Amino acid sequence: MPDCIFCQIIRGEIPCRKIYEDADIFAFHDIHPQQPVHFMIIPKQHIATLYDANESHQAVLGKVLAKAGELARIAGLDDGFRTIINTGRVGGQEVYHLHIHILGGPDPVGPMVRR
Ligand code: AMP
Ligand code: ZN
Repeated sequence: MPDCIFCQIIRGEIPCRKIYEDADIFAFHDIHPQQPVHFMIIPKQHIATLYDANESHQAVLGKVLAKAGELARIAGLDDGFRTIINTGRVGGQEVYHLHIHILGGPDPVGPMVRR
């Protein structure tokens, strides 16, 4: 997707702090970290939201999730971490290229949602 900021990061047109890349997925640090460790794992294929995902995306989304533990271990998140997928307006999604956030640090992240 030409104008998608995460597609541009994948193509190397916008700089990022890359953590991992293979043929199907890409991981990089969030530019505005909400926790001491905050990175995202994304499919290279442009899928706008989890709402748009379907069975044809099963393999790549499986890869995204399956890589989370290994990348968290490398980042030192041995005592756990929060995993977030924001979807659409109600979900507070800002970038419309499906991504999972991995957040953590020495202290518990806190409640799942603020009331
Ligand atoms: P979401 O609200 O789930 O769509 O999250 C989008 C995330 O992308 C936010 O946490 C932003 O800080 C992050 N972000 C936006 N632009 C960049 C960028 N150029 N490099 C790294 N992270 C970014
Ligand atoms: Zn994209």
